[in-house]
Amino acid sequence: MKQFQYVRPTEAGLAINALLKDSGAKFVAGGTNLLDLMKRGIEAPERLVDINRLPLKEITKNDQGFNIGALTLNSSLAEHKDIRKDLPLLSQALLAGASAQLRNMATVGGNLLQRTRCPYFYDTSMPCNKRLPGSGCGALKGFNRMHAIFGASEHCIAVNPSDMNVALSALDAIVQLSGPKGKRNIPIQDFHRLPGDRPELDSVIGKNELITGISIPTSALKHVHYLKIRDRSSYAFALVSVAAALDLEGTTIRWASLAMGGVAHKPWRLTEVETFLAGQQISAGLFQEAGTLAMRGAKAYEHNEFKLKLAPLSIGHALSIASGLVKA
Ligand code: SF4
Repeated sequence: MKQFQYVRPTEAGLAINALLKDSGAKFVAGGTNLLDLMKRGIEAPERLVDINRLPLKEITKNDQGFNIGALTLNSSLAEHKDIRKDLPLLSQALLAGASAQLRNMATVGGNLLQRTRCPYFYDTSMPCNKRLPGSGCGALKGFNRMHAIFGASEHCIAVNPSDMNVALSALDAIVQLSGPKGKRNIPIQDFHRLPGDRPELDSVIGKNELITGISIPTSALKHVHYLKIRDRSSYAFALVSVAAALDLEGTTIRWASLAMGGVAHKPWRLTEVETFLAGQQISAGLFQEAGTLAMRGAKAYEHNEFKLKLAPLSIGHALSIASGLVKA
């Protein structure tokens, strides 16, 4: 691994300044993704700015919802009593991700920024437009079983690997950023990008911006389910996942919120399906229709055609569990 400098500021302003001073600097917190990338030579920062001493670890609740510091550990957030009670969807998604050891190190901010697990991105002998813009896409004609069925481009068909991001999308979370030009808030749906012709950019975060936290403007949600379909029951990325939240009045759906993971370069929000479900009576047939509707515009590649069948079934099943029609 290339040698690098290491600094540990105690204030957000100092951390941002440390990045501004050095174009080869990067923030590090839990390091659960960045250190792997450095060991493989995919990232080679000149300087690591360790942000673990910044005061960004609090979880607070008020009338508007939750505020969660960017340095909150995934495990702390998943086990927080108010999150488990009011936002079980987020807790379920976090516990479906990675392993207990990784969740004890990984932070909320790092989870938002984790890179794709496309194997060609990690194999420096292969072409990859995300790792080396203009080199081509190894997955396009390669083994693309884990790849996107929505929103891909000829330049990249990778998916966002996070479970947390899918739940945050269904919960309309806001990402809080701080940078040299001040603070800004971005709805999570606008935070991650589709690949287009710039697949090297995963999100809209500025080069010298720091994620300081997220807010979730929501009251308690009871009828929820996070369904993750994967090759083994732990420590595996989603083939398809679904975050489903329903607001029910008896058996009538007042509103629905739905997002998918493992299918696109960003959490894939299903707004058309949400509109379709609003005002309807819960039933297995309705949820099957919802799954079918969600597949409009889907496009498979050589090895991931199975997702065209798996995804609508997963949506139907997640909605059935969230609504109480079937047990988890
Ligand atoms: Fe790289 Fe994206 Fe192609 Fe994977 S899908 S090889 S990340 S360009």
